[in-house]
Amino acid sequence: MNSTGTPNSQTEGAPDPLPLSLLNDFLYCPRRAALKAIEGWWGENQYTVQGELSHERADLPGYEVAKGVKLLRALPVFSDRLGLSGKCDIVEQHHDGSLCPVEYKKGKRRRFGNDDAQLCAQALCLEEMFSRPLLYGAIFHAASKRRREVEFTPQLRKMTEDAIGDLRRMVEAGAVPPAVFKAACEACSLYHICLPQVTSQPGHFARAAQELFRI
Ligand code: SF4
Repeated sequence: MNSTGTPNSQTEGAPDPLPLSLLNDFLYCPRRAALKAIEGWWGENQYTVQGELSHERADLPGYEVAKGVKLLRALPVFSDRLGLSGKCDIVEQHHDGSLCPVEYKKGKRRRFGNDDAQLCAQALCLEEMFSRPLLYGAIFHAASKRRREVEFTPQLRKMTEDAIGDLRRMVEAGAVPPAVFKAACEACSLYHICLPQVTSQPGHFARAAQELFRI
């Protein structure tokens, strides 16, 4: 934290920040992030709606004190260095001044491993804003009401920063990657826009286009 105990402010002239949530999309599927950031598509499905409902309380800005720990809700965060901005569901401020971001997730731990990187990206923002290291964060799984601690290891930090770099390069290039049909597609809210079963196979895509437009 700086000498006044307040967060550092965002630098004027820093590159346009990418939303933190886009990193989560990118790690889920680069095409999903590209469809949103480059082509402007958006979609809701049962999973996104459930996710929003599980965030409802954490999305109300403000703070409270529970068991001596200050809980900062919906805290806006940024990193000029990484070109990111967004908000943390909850940041806990403990007695010793240490900070711990807590992310709410609707379900159980995901198979796709993007939650930890999203939390780590929040920690990188907080470290830059408050000029202090963060060691741990936590993910609260609404379905099981379980809290899982996530250590910000050098490996997780590197993976997160590499992914942010890859995401920025993809967005700046304006290139939407081709679809790759995979297990994650079933829960993707952009499934009906992406049509991965068709677009991931050029032969299928050509036949579908012929039928549609009678080429
Ligand atoms: S449907 Fe599959 S390939 Fe298409 S954006 Fe979603 S996850 Fe990616």
